[in-house]
Amino acid sequence: MLDSLSQIRIVLVNTSHPGNIGGVARAMKNMGLSNLVLVQPQEFPSDKADARSSGAVDILENAQVVASLPEAVAGCGLVIGTSARSRHIPWPLTSPRETAAQALSEASQHEVAIVFGREDRGLTNEELHQCNFHMHIPTNEDFSSLNLAAAVQVAAYELRVAALAMAEQGAGVLQGDKPQWGTDWDIELASNDELERLFAHMQETLVDIEFLDPHNPRQLMPRLRRLYLRARPDKVETNILRGILSAMQKMLKK
Ligand code: SAH
Repeated sequence: MLDSLSQIRIVLVNTSHPGNIGGVARAMKNMGLSNLVLVQPQEFPSDKADARSSGAVDILENAQVVASLPEAVAGCGLVIGTSARSRHIPWPLTSPRETAAQALSEASQHEVAIVFGREDRGLTNEELHQCNFHMHIPTNEDFSSLNLAAAVQVAAYELRVAALAMAEQGAGVLQGDKPQWGTDWDIELASNDELERLFAHMQETLVDIEFLDPHNPRQLMPRLRRLYLRARPDKVETNILRGILSAMQKMLKK
């Protein structure tokens, strides 16, 4: 039961306090999550993390430590960034409950990542621009930032409640009246790393055709990222876009 929870990765970016990593491990294990990925933690492994995990050391022992966010979310078909405040270019915003329903309704098709930021300054815009959606936990507007482990706890609780409902009543219970993306699609959705390769190729081609000025890029790439991450192209669509870019580059070389 609740196998779908094993498809959900919790990603912590650049955490400074090992105690928080322990607190996250505890929150995850309480809710039946097991897949923890750490992007450049400042101090790990650590006795402080073990102590705060209160016995969830298996989660810490199995945690994967990686050098970058793209590595942490490689292979995922859905990536959700989390943020305590609104950002310059707003991304599609979800609540923890909507996030859990979306994540679990897609978990049979691909892995899902939920990404949490640094204690002092959260996720950078660049990191948030690698995500399909942004999840905001509704908090007091004058005091909106939760402790990292507390934020993971809220998300993990909603995931568990949604997984229990799904196990009892079937996947349909999570769909509500909202259209679901990425479910029952004929072709598998592109994974995050495939989309990152598309963006790199797109940027290169836009510079080649002198549409993008590398010395004054403005918000062109973030705007295009938002468009494609929101549209969630499948593998074939992504290949078509890559093919168009290659044809343009070939033409330029003639
Ligand atoms: N001062 C930082 C907040 C850091 S809190 C900022 O202004 O962005 C550490 C992390 O906990 C955040 O990066 C986010 O992943 C999570 N978090 C804290 N409060 C949150 C909230 N209200 N909604 C969503 N995530 C939150």
